[in-house]
Amino acid sequence: NRRIVLQSRPDGAPTPENFRLETETLPEVPDGSVLLRTVYLSMDPYMRGRMSDAPSYAPPVGLDAVMVGGTVCRVEQSKSDAFNVGDWVLGYSGWQDYCVSDGQGLVPLGNELDRPSWALGVLGMPGFTAYMGLLDIGQPQPGETVVMAAATGAVGSVVGQVAKIKGCRVVGVAGGSEKCRVGTDEFGFDACIDHHAGDFADQLAAACPDGIDVYYENVGGKVFDAVLPLLNTCARIPVCGLVAHYNDTELPEGPDRLSLLMQTILVRRLTMKGFIIYQDYGDRYEEFLETMQPWVQQGRVRYREDVVQGLENAPEAFIGMLEGGNFGKLVVQVGDE
Ligand code: NDP
Repeated sequence: NRRIVLQSRPDGAPTPENFRLETETLPEVPDGSVLLRTVYLSMDPYMRGRMSDAPSYAPPVGLDAVMVGGTVCRVEQSKSDAFNVGDWVLGYSGWQDYCVSDGQGLVPLGNELDRPSWALGVLGMPGFTAYMGLLDIGQPQPGETVVMAAATGAVGSVVGQVAKIKGCRVVGVAGGSEKCRVGTDEFGFDACIDHHAGDFADQLAAACPDGIDVYYENVGGKVFDAVLPLLNTCARIPVCGLVAHYNDTELPEGPDRLSLLMQTILVRRLTMKGFIIYQDYGDRYEEFLETMQPWVQQGRVRYREDVVQGLENAPEAFIGMLEGGNFGKLVVQVGDE
């Protein structure tokens, strides 16, 4: 069994040296358990948090332990009544080829799946995150303006498309002209602004002539700085992620803007609310799937994936994702379907 373990904790941006690819002999499969073969491994920004031992909402990965991660697997051997050989399951078996599981936490996906990897994206955790954060915290109303960054990524692309379904004006923010083109042409956003542009803040203001009613926060940094003056009275800000800061080792340079933020929250009566998807909304997963599945089948929500081949390429793909190297939901294909 090939597996990638955490060799050392990063200081700032992760490097390939923080990971180690090793090979181990697989344990016997005990009665009641199954052997899973990883086919797709999800790459998600939260994994950066697990590499650090700073306090968070989930414990860190131990040194020399397998990197955690959502996976879509085939059941390779079964000594359990609940699973048959060949079944697809959604698991959390991490960065490795195989895993022995007692079945706890596995979600059966049947044995006929058109797009197995989609269970890691639009029909899985990131899609669920987009859906709940936008609808429950964002409360988008028809005609309102919704802005989100990482707009072609797993979460952002779903946020924008669901906001369109809800009748909003949608302005995405993405890194580079090709991502912005896909934002408007494929995902149907009204505008998509490149945050690398020198006049990014002016372009964003021009694309939001009526201000911003919902800002779905995925990144922080300079995108938030450009958004803050455009927020309307009673705007809602689901705080989903801050990927621009995950590699920070200290507070950003420049003047302290906390008082500006607090004053804006007060006078514009803003609602900012952080959420952790399964902790806050775990009991609403079925509702999400029942709504999202038809939207995806009908083509009302489109999905873009960035598939990297080979477990050994996971560290590089992950490091790149934190800097915008991915174009769509990033997954690693670890084995054949
Ligand atoms: P993405 O597929 O969107 O990948 C991350 C993207 O972030 C990059 O592609 C890049 O896009 C963008 N980015 C990186 N650095 C910067 C920067 N400095 N400024 C602006 N954009 C940047 O990842 P996901 O869709 O999986 O995740 C999106 C967010 O949602 C993350 O913050 C993640 O942590 C969060 N999340 C939160 C959950 C929760 O429960 N709260 C659950 C799941 C995800 P580009 O090139 O377009 O800038």
